[in-house]
Amino acid sequence: MSTLKTYKNWRLESDADEILWVYFDKEGVSVNTVDKAVMEEFSDIVDSLANDHDHKGVIIASGKKNGFIAGADISQFNKFKDIDESFTMLRRGQQIFDKLEALRLPVVAMIDGFCVGGGLELALACHYRVAEDGPKTRLGLPEVKLGIHPGWGGSVRLPRLIGAPQGMNMVLGGHTVTGRVAAKLGFVDVAVPKRHLVKAAKFYALQPPKPHQPTLLQKLTNTKPARVLLSYYLRKQLRSKVNPMHYPSPFLVVDNFERFGVEGDLAMEKEARSCSKLFFGDTSENLVRIFFLQERLKGLAKESRFKPQHVHVIGAGTMGGDIAAWCAMQGLTVTLQDRDPKFIAPAIKRAYELFKKKFKEDYLVQRAMDKLMPDVQGSGIPRADVIIEAIFEDLKTKQDLFKQLELQAKPTAILATNTSSIPLDEINSVLQVPGRLVGIHFFNPVSQMQLVEVVKGERTDPSIVEKAIAFVRKIDRLPLPVKSSPGFLVNRILMPYLLEAVALMDEGIPAPAIDKAMTDFGMPMGPITLADTVGLDVCLSVAKHLSQYYPSTVIPKALVELVEKGKLGRKTNGGFYKFINGKQVKQPVDYAKPLQEISDRLVLCMLNEAFACLREGVVEDGDLLDAGMIFGTGFAPFRGGPIHYAKSQGIQELYQQFVKQQQAKGSKAPQLKEWDVTVV
Ligand code: NAD
Repeated sequence: MSTLKTYKNWRLESDADEILWVYFDKEGVSVNTVDKAVMEEFSDIVDSLANDHDHKGVIIASGKKNGFIAGADISQFNKFKDIDESFTMLRRGQQIFDKLEALRLPVVAMIDGFCVGGGLELALACHYRVAEDGPKTRLGLPEVKLGIHPGWGGSVRLPRLIGAPQGMNMVLGGHTVTGRVAAKLGFVDVAVPKRHLVKAAKFYALQPPKPHQPTLLQKLTNTKPARVLLSYYLRKQLRSKVNPMHYPSPFLVVDNFERFGVEGDLAMEKEARSCSKLFFGDTSENLVRIFFLQERLKGLAKESRFKPQHVHVIGAGTMGGDIAAWCAMQGLTVTLQDRDPKFIAPAIKRAYELFKKKFKEDYLVQRAMDKLMPDVQGSGIPRADVIIEAIFEDLKTKQDLFKQLELQAKPTAILATNTSSIPLDEINSVLQVPGRLVGIHFFNPVSQMQLVEVVKGERTDPSIVEKAIAFVRKIDRLPLPVKSSPGFLVNRILMPYLLEAVALMDEGIPAPAIDKAMTDFGMPMGPITLADTVGLDVCLSVAKHLSQYYPSTVIPKALVELVEKGKLGRKTNGGFYKFINGKQVKQPVDYAKPLQEISDRLVLCMLNEAFACLREGVVEDGDLLDAGMIFGTGFAPFRGGPIHYAKSQGIQELYQQFVKQQQAKGSKAPQLKEWDVTVV
């Protein structure tokens, strides 16, 4: 290999087979992202390739250890001066990729690791794509998840290459797929094991076959009549999942597809045009903000040297069993203890089902199963780096257990409780070193809920909190540091909202109207359905627990009565709603007044509690609170979280509305200083 030219972000090397290697190695960072400077240098490179007669082919590869290209640099998204500027940037990118596509030399993208967004758009403009066949290589166009859509030709090239149904599915869903799946779909030419990757890329560069073509049927799906028909179904499908007012970007993709198709420059121009406007919408602004909040959580305890390998979980019930399974799935060695093997067996069965669902390949399922060991005797305790207790919610039982654990565990191991409600300083009072106990509070279902609250008691040693955060990151969850106070953050804010929703039912408002009001607001599920899903017994017990600390908590009659009748929600096929075989029986929304009156009341109730949490320092700041509610409850992401929402609507105005509501109910209103803007 000889280096021909080095740019700030790119490196050109020539090999003995007369292949030109174009390495993308962005300056000063560990992950390749595309920004203006990167694009301008790439434009130079593409121009030079047009006049290159010394090489037989070109391979574009990453110069980083980690991944191909992670997409456009998201931090640039909110820096555009105006729509003209964002449009110009997108058009410029499209034109550079068009020049790349038009090159006479065969160009291969050699993809090893993530290749998403702008990265995949670049790869799609190459003549061939060769990908590594392994779990780390993921390809996709996730732009819609940031409230925009592809703007460098992705929404045009992908359906053109593999047909509209699959292509649009990738663009509209924003999901990523492995190299193997991409090869099946046809937008990767071949997926091979890492050791064959270079050989495969060279094959395409030196003996280029005819580039991939869509089948006749796939081509037909892009014709005008097919587009009209398909667009009708795509819109219908989208509307069943998202509201176009909240998430306009996928709908714009369909509009462009229907009207301008996937051939010619007009389709490209329209793509750039609608994307350039989306950068300036509230949805994109909020989703980008959330992306960075997520990065903030991911970055916590980044410097920690704690590298846990072995987790011991005690209590193989709903939570413990699923925590153990999740940890094994993430490659940790897990020992799972309970009082008797009969309590562990169902957890192992559930774990197997989870692994089968998450991993398509049998060997990966087997590998995860091998990591998960039933351990009635507790022989894993002295070897574990993290010990998580998930037994019954009873102070004395937990204290007895931790007294034993403290004697048996390695001195460096962290002792963690998954308690939902018992203050840490009550549990740790029996320990010789109380500072060793930390809360690691998972949410149910563990495999679906990204957020984990890391709970600090008065006496918890900060270094243990840091270790707990590092552990949560190690198992690919989002850690939220919170203070040990009743309900921590998420349940504390969620519960008054759920109770208020039930109170509205007591006032005669039908459940479907309440649920619809909140899904219209942007919640993933209405509060009454949520209560039925969580279980009304669980709701009632959390509510009773919180009412000891927060006297204003009013437990609605309807909730108590249903629990007394054994109607606990989905799990008993009956709660607020009727269920048939676990499926909710849909009821029409029969309500004449504006639904927004309902959502206003419920959201204000949630905000009131959110401000209380900030005041009391349950979380450090408003951003962390927003992150907690978005990742812990699915709070309407496009609204940016409760505190951000309050700020965007005007805290003073919302406060006045809340006071009026409280007065109408005859309840005590807080003082304005309790919604103190200065603490946000
Ligand atoms: P669960 O009743 O489903 O399981 C508890 C398990 O612990 C049972 O299998 C039981 O046999 C075992 N156990 C009890 N005492 C034991 C002991 N001394 N040694 C070994 N095993 C013992 O309970 P769960 O719902 O999984 O809750 C466990 C903990 O997690 C509780 O502290 C709860 O507050 C908390 N939590 C629950 C949820 C939830 O949604 N269920 C959510 C977050 C946190």
